[in-house]
Amino acid sequence: MNIFAKSPTKLSSINLIYSGKVIHEKKPFRGVSHLAEHLMSYAVRDLESEYDKYGIISNACTGPLYVSFYLQGLERYVKKFAEDFITKIMSFTPSRELFERERKVVLEEYKDCFTDQISSYLLNQSRINYDYCGAIGYREDLENLSYEQYLEFQKTFFSKPDKLLYVGSKPIDFKLDFATTDCNKIFNFSNSSTLKLEQQSEFKEKAVVHLHTQLAGNELPYAKFACALLSKGMDSPLFRTVREENALAYFVNCGAPSFSYNFATMDILTQVSDENLQFTFEVIENVLNNVEKFITRKRFNDMITSYKITLEKDDINRYSNISKFITPYENTIDYLLDNKLLTYSNVIDFLKSKQGKFYHFSDKKI
Ligand SMILES: [Zn+2]
Repeated sequence: MNIFAKSPTKLSSINLIYSGKVIHEKKPFRGVSHLAEHLMSYAVRDLESEYDKYGIISNACTGPLYVSFYLQGLERYVKKFAEDFITKIMSFTPSRELFERERKVVLEEYKDCFTDQISSYLLNQSRINYDYCGAIGYREDLENLSYEQYLEFQKTFFSKPDKLLYVGSKPIDFKLDFATTDCNKIFNFSNSSTLKLEQQSEFKEKAVVHLHTQLAGNELPYAKFACALLSKGMDSPLFRTVREENALAYFVNCGAPSFSYNFATMDILTQVSDENLQFTFEVIENVLNNVEKFITRKRFNDMITSYKITLEKDDINRYSNISKFITPYENTIDYLLDNKLLTYSNVIDFLKSKQGKFYHFSDKKI
């Protein structure tokens, strides 16, 4: 699918998008979409000095929902390089030597993800809860993958992109053969995960505080807005109670990550001293159990204004802020706004429906 978004500035981007690869990865290919992202990026390696000369950013990223290769910069230069960029990436086959070398880099990046307490905890917890390794994959699969297996994988999953998104002054016409990958997948709680956990360092003194719940079909946009109400800024209920009043933590985050187009969760995360673990859960539960007291109508209205301003700012930077153009509309807060569903009572009712439904998880004994 060709997608065009009009840029309000001279900044532009071309984004070649392969959807839903990571969520469908199975043994022995867990983490191989990410490796493909690294390897296919070498298609334009000989152009890097030209990109630098013209102030073009050339990069790629792998998330659970898509792998994207992109160029960003002033439109006249993005246009100059766009077609060649796409053609080269789509027709690239890495050599055996490049495959062996880049696999080492990807394994180093993999290990880096387990040096930080929070990211290490979250990756292991996803293995325990959902039997799922995410974009970074599984060490064993990456180590044992043969060059021939890799080529077969790339041919199967990366021959056709799903989307080509151009942000600029007017559409450019590329005739590509597109795939339509299914991005729906329900993740069930697993009680029999056989995935090995990555050994993490002994994180002395600090414990992860994690409250986790699954979202039903249409709850995701409500959860996104509820997260802002609960944790955006120093005046948010979670910052005030956890940080200011009780001095338990430096940060507290609330988010609603999408695993797929039809499965998402809501998570509250912070990191506290071991001895405060239990009490922090109590402080957070107290907020969740008294949402009407902690979330005033004024706070609600302020956050709506804040959201609309964020949208306006994102629109100015839409060349680099592409998520809006590839996220299903029903999953966005815009959908609630446009359909007059974003009311105080709807969001409070959503939060009340989650009372008592958050699992308490930690990397230390609770
Ligand atoms: Zn990487």
